[in-house]
Amino acid sequence: MAVRPPEHGRFDAIIVGAGVGGLYAIHRLRKLGLKVRAFEAGDGVGGTWYWNRYPGCRCDVESLEYSYSFSDELQQEWHWPERYGTQPEILRYINHVADRFDLRRDIEFNTRVKEAVFDGDTNTWTVKTDKGDTATARYCIMATGNLSTPRKPNIAGLESFKGKWYHTGRWPHEGVDFTGLRVGVIGTGSSGVQSIPIIAKQAQHLYVFQRTANFSLPARNVPMPPDKESAHKAEYPERRRAAYDTPFGIAGYPPPEKSALDAAEAERLSAYEAKWAEGGSISFLYSFTDLLLNKESNDTASEFVRRKIRATVKDPRTAELLCPNDHPIGTKRLILDTDYYETYNRDNVTLIDIRSKPIQELTPTGLRTEDADYALDAIVFATGFDAMTGAMKEIDIRTDAGLSIQAKWEDGPRTYLGLMIAGFPNLFMITGPQSPGVKSQMILACEQHVDWIAGCVQHLRDRGLTRIEAEEDAEDAWVQHNNEVADRTLYPLANSWYVGANIPGKPRVFMPYVGGVTAYKKKCDEVVARGYEGFRLGASIERQRSAAN
Ligand code: FAD
Ligand code: NAP
Repeated sequence: MAVRPPEHGRFDAIIVGAGVGGLYAIHRLRKLGLKVRAFEAGDGVGGTWYWNRYPGCRCDVESLEYSYSFSDELQQEWHWPERYGTQPEILRYINHVADRFDLRRDIEFNTRVKEAVFDGDTNTWTVKTDKGDTATARYCIMATGNLSTPRKPNIAGLESFKGKWYHTGRWPHEGVDFTGLRVGVIGTGSSGVQSIPIIAKQAQHLYVFQRTANFSLPARNVPMPPDKESAHKAEYPERRRAAYDTPFGIAGYPPPEKSALDAAEAERLSAYEAKWAEGGSISFLYSFTDLLLNKESNDTASEFVRRKIRATVKDPRTAELLCPNDHPIGTKRLILDTDYYETYNRDNVTLIDIRSKPIQELTPTGLRTEDADYALDAIVFATGFDAMTGAMKEIDIRTDAGLSIQAKWEDGPRTYLGLMIAGFPNLFMITGPQSPGVKSQMILACEQHVDWIAGCVQHLRDRGLTRIEAEEDAEDAWVQHNNEVADRTLYPLANSWYVGANIPGKPRVFMPYVGGVTAYKKKCDEVVARGYEGFRLGASIERQRSAAN
């Protein structure tokens, strides 16, 4: 018999995380009349945009798109000063949303959820925090984020290093001044590529330690053109609706009509040139229909970008090292940058190839590779995250039936629609694995999930039900469908965080759903229309007993 926590710790829904997903969940569930409590490890709202304060951090989706749609007043009134929002600007926006909708009063900050246990007698979840407090609720909603668990490699000697070190995903709030310092950046994914040009301008010398070259395109950021803003705002509701009818949840890019192989060389080049000049990753991948499906087609786009790199970077050896050669373009998150390749033309920047000469250790004075010592005053780990499953697996999620998330996901995540997990009733995820979350505009993805969850809770309440659980068969079929869809694309060819390749020992499983937002939303809506097909709905044993008496 579970010990009941004190009455003040009882809620209708517990939400873990106060990023864009968790905040909207608070708002939406409150509107249903639910008593909610959110727990957030940080001391403020914003999630990604709270933690990732490294220099140059900004959105790679245009700011008029990367914003909430649930309040028309909000989207009309908010002014985005630039084409792509900077981290401080996005954080300011999220704080505005928290204040405007009075969300903070239901959030316990500086509080990490360590444990979540389901009691099948009462159909409730009890969570325990790092402060030792507990809270119990019918529903537990994991808004813990896909890219919220930073990871730095275990490099020998870190504790002996006398300089300072930082991770891009846990950047100091007061900022870091690299002026006059010898700095090493390890990692050339989106975070490294965004921060390197800015750090290079401050540092006495910057060493970039690159294991794998990535494709990056110019963002072409500009101050927001007033006519563009007003035209967009005039069509906001239609644009938001249209976004659901696109693969990546972003409207405004006309879908391509032909294969890259059906275009003559000159036509292909002119299409790529136009997209290169326009800026934007989705726009570029939309040059032709099959860039993510056909390797030969993709080669034409990959080679186009390699040529641009060679034309930009003056030193031919550095240029060649920067040319990605181990994955088709777009199969890892396609990076948007400002002056990334140009930065390697600076005298104070050196690219070090740690693929051929790996890092051996950190020393009191710097970093040692197989063939050289580099004297450093500061090290930046831009080494990414234990993506998609990391935050969930850091919580000890268990049921009284003896299931644990660690065991269930030992060989990779298994979910139904990325929303629920068989064996874990009343536990919802916002943009969980096997949903298109990370392959789409993520605020739209969060809103769609929260709306689905709110609809589900309403459905249960209207029928006096207290329990919903994904069926094993439905989950198996969804996992299989995910894999089949991914296998029809080029995505699995890349050693990306989509397959967990960046974390030593993590099972190689393709985690995001890449069938597109349109197909996914249609499936979610159909499931509801068919009476929550693939889910078992019920009442608690307590209720069943009292009904029987
Ligand atoms: P998060 O923002 O990650 O929030 C999760 C929150 O949960 C965090 O605050 C965390 O502290 C908290 N948490 C986790 N575990 C616990 C626990 N056990 N107890 C208490 N609290 C916990 N997406 C795009 O669509 N476009 C972009 O341009 C884009 N740029 C990005 C740039 C960076 C640097 C990164 C890292 C990601 C970017 N993303 C982008 C993805 C981004 O994560 C999402 O857009 C979105 O912000 C995710 O919101 P979320 O609420 O789901 O998760
Ligand atoms: P990432 O894409 O996983 O890149 C991590 C980098 O660190 C890679 O270059 C990786 O090399 C390197 N690395 C990891 N472990 C290493 C080791 N042991 N030794 C040497 N190098 C190592 O992480 P990220 O750059 O933080 O980006 C993660 C995701 O967050 C992005 O894909 C994107 O979705 C999101 N993001 C978006 C933006 C934006 O533009 N809006 C900005 C930042 C982040 P290998 O490739 O060889 O593993």
